[in-house]
Amino acid sequence: MLAMGNVVEEFEKNFAEYIGVKYAVATSSGTAALHIAIMALGIGKNDEVITTPFTFSATADAISFTGAKPVFVDIDSDTYNLDPHLIEKVITSKTKAILPVHLYGLPADMQAIIKIAKKHNLYTIEDAAQSHGAEYKKKKTGSLGTMGCFSFYATKNMTTAEGGMITTNNAKLAEKARMLRNHGSKVKYYHEILGYNYAMTNIEAAMGIEQLKKLDRFNLKRIKNATYFNNVFKKINQITIPKVSPNFKHVFHQYTIRVADREKLIEKLKDKNIGFGTFYPTPLHLQPHNKHYGYKKGDFPIAEKAATEVISLPVHPSLSRSNLDLITATVRSLYE
Ligand SMILES: *Cc1c(COP(=O)(O)O)cnc(C)c1O
Repeated sequence: MLAMGNVVEEFEKNFAEYIGVKYAVATSSGTAALHIAIMALGIGKNDEVITTPFTFSATADAISFTGAKPVFVDIDSDTYNLDPHLIEKVITSKTKAILPVHLYGLPADMQAIIKIAKKHNLYTIEDAAQSHGAEYKKKKTGSLGTMGCFSFYATKNMTTAEGGMITTNNAKLAEKARMLRNHGSKVKYYHEILGYNYAMTNIEAAMGIEQLKKLDRFNLKRIKNATYFNNVFKKINQITIPKVSPNFKHVFHQYTIRVADREKLIEKLKDKNIGFGTFYPTPLHLQPHNKHYGYKKGDFPIAEKAATEVISLPVHPSLSRSNLDLITATVRSLYE
């Protein structure tokens, strides 16, 4: 059986156990997971979902797929995550959910977000596509909100090449997500609702089972690499290192710093053949495909500023000590 079967079920069971939830539903991608999680909650046309503009496009696209409107609020300049203080101002009678992203592997301020969600009777959907194994108050991301959505794309903390997962403690939502993933059917060739072909294959799940066993080890190495960088870069005035408060476990999907003279640093890194990324250069409210929502430049100044100043350095588990030293020496050569 190459397509979805018992290996997928085993991966789902293992993943649910790891995250600390009752149910996990495997999907063909993280984007598919977000799409059907939002749909499973009954969110669609004329509804609004509050999210961050400083994320990968898929976060807001999944909201748009359902016919709902992504309503953006600005980020916190230290954590790059949704600023809870700004959420209540944009809640309307159409708001159905808050969709925080745990960007770069750092959990969003879930206590504050869930408090607001409860007060206004909203769902919380976690975009945990970058935060496999990250924790808030010792609880894993993906177990904190109504539903969690993971991606196993090739660059994530664990991978199945392409793939995704929904996590939840709600049996009805899990069942609805399973149907939406599988052409709207529980029984083969009997379609109760309009659904999609968003299934994971047994091949991908077999990879996922092995990757999950290594995830904690991978994350530990990422954290060690990040700590190594922090100890060097904290002494450089022109660099702001990642801020991680007590109660938050950051798993460094990206090691992202804020720098002066980003273009000069990029030249230096290119010179030494060191990989880097700017996540994300264009906030979502300024993306051409979101133009019809009516946002404009200046609406989310903290996200817009971060987009011009952040740079992510290699932090993956396969970096050697000499790789790390080359990276720190190259960065220091610009600023010291
Ligand atoms: C990767 C990612 C997604 C989408 O996941 P895919 O598996 O690539 O579809 C969604 N949100 C965020 C924040 C991501 O990083």
